[in-house]
Amino acid sequence: MKIMAEVEEVELDGEYGSVDGLRVACSRCGESVDVYGRSSSSARRGAAELRDACTCRGSKFFVLDGYDD
Ligand SMILES: [Zn+2]
Repeated sequence: MKIMAEVEEVELDGEYGSVDGLRVACSRCGESVDVYGRSSSSARRGAAELRDACTCRGSKFFVLDGYDD
């Protein structure tokens, strides 16, 4: 099943202060993961992590709507 992943720009706590990151959230259950970086590959990494974090049942495929460099 395709699920829309909502991508939001956030500031994350890094070792030397705040760093740019992305929050990728499941549009169905609202579960989210934070990843470092704001490139499209960061967003894809977030989508991969979200597959484990998300509590929705069944097979999942997250679609990053419109998010690209
Ligand atoms: Zn979910």
